[in-house]
Amino acid sequence: YKIDYAPFMNDQNEIGGVILVFKNVTEQYKIEKMQKEFVANVSHELKTPITTIKSYAETLIDGAIEEPSIAKEFLGVINSESDRMSRLVSDLLKLSRMDYEQTNWTKEKLNVNEMVMDVCRKLRIVAKNKKIKMHIESISENLNILFDRDGFEQIMLNIAGNAVKYTPSDGNVWIDAFENNKDVVISIKDDGIGIPKEDQTRIFDRFYRVDKARTRQMGGTGLGLSIAKQIAEAHDSTIIVNSEVQKGTEIKIIIPGFEII
Ligand code: ADP
Repeated sequence: YKIDYAPFMNDQNEIGGVILVFKNVTEQYKIEKMQKEFVANVSHELKTPITTIKSYAETLIDGAIEEPSIAKEFLGVINSESDRMSRLVSDLLKLSRMDYEQTNWTKEKLNVNEMVMDVCRKLRIVAKNKKIKMHIESISENLNILFDRDGFEQIMLNIAGNAVKYTPSDGNVWIDAFENNKDVVISIKDDGIGIPKEDQTRIFDRFYRVDKARTRQMGGTGLGLSIAKQIAEAHDSTIIVNSEVQKGTEIKIIIPGFEII
C-alpha cells in the first residue's frame, strides 16, 4: 500500500486530526516489476550472442583467420549467433506491435484443412532431418474459421515447430482438427520430452523456458508461445496445454467456428 496523509484543522484552528489515504498499488507494482524484468531479459538475451560474436571475431583478427578450417568454424558461429539475434528482434517487434495494437488483423474465412496442410509442408523438412514422423489426421473439408491468415500460420508454426523441436529423433507429431460445440479445436500432439506440471502455466510468459540452457541451445527465443497466445486472444481463441514429462505434450487451440450450423 502507498500511504498519503494530510492534517486537518478544527474550528479553533488547531490540528483536529489526520486524514490517511491507503492506496492499493499492488497492480501498478506488479506491472512495473514485469516491465523491469522484461527489459532485463531482453538485455540478457541480446548480450549473450553479442559477447559470443565479439569474442569469435577478436580471435579471428588475432590470427585464427590464417587457419582456414578454424576460420570457417568461427564464422559459422558468428553467422548462427547473428541469426539468433535477428530472430529475437523480429519476435520482439511482433510482440511490440501487438502491445500497441498496431497489428492489422484481416479476419477472413480460412479453411482449416488447407491451412494445416500448408503449415505441415513448411515443417516437413525440419521434421525429416530429425527423423520425426508427422501424422496429419484426415481433417474435414468443411471446417472453417474467421482468422487472420498470417496470424493463424504464425500460431501453428510456433506450436507445431515446438512439437518438432522438443521431440527427440524417431519421435512422432500428430495434428488433428475437429468441431466441438461450435468451436474448432486444433490439436498438436507429440511424444517428446513433455513439460513439468509446475511450468505448464508459465510457458506462455515472455522468455519463460523450462530448461533455460538446453532450450536456448535449440535456437528458440522463448517468445514463441507468448506470441501465439497473444494472437489467439485477438481472435477470441484460447490455447490449452496437456503434458506429461517423458511422455509428450498436447496443445489445443480452440477457435470459434465459422458458419458451423
Ligand atoms: P522457445 O523459443 O524456447 O521454444 P516458446 O515460447 O515457444 O519458447 O516455448 C516456451 C517453452 O515451453 C520452451 O522453452 C520449452 O521449454 C517449452 N515447450 C514448448 N512446447 C513444448 C513441447 N511441445 N514439448 C516440450 N516442451 C515444450
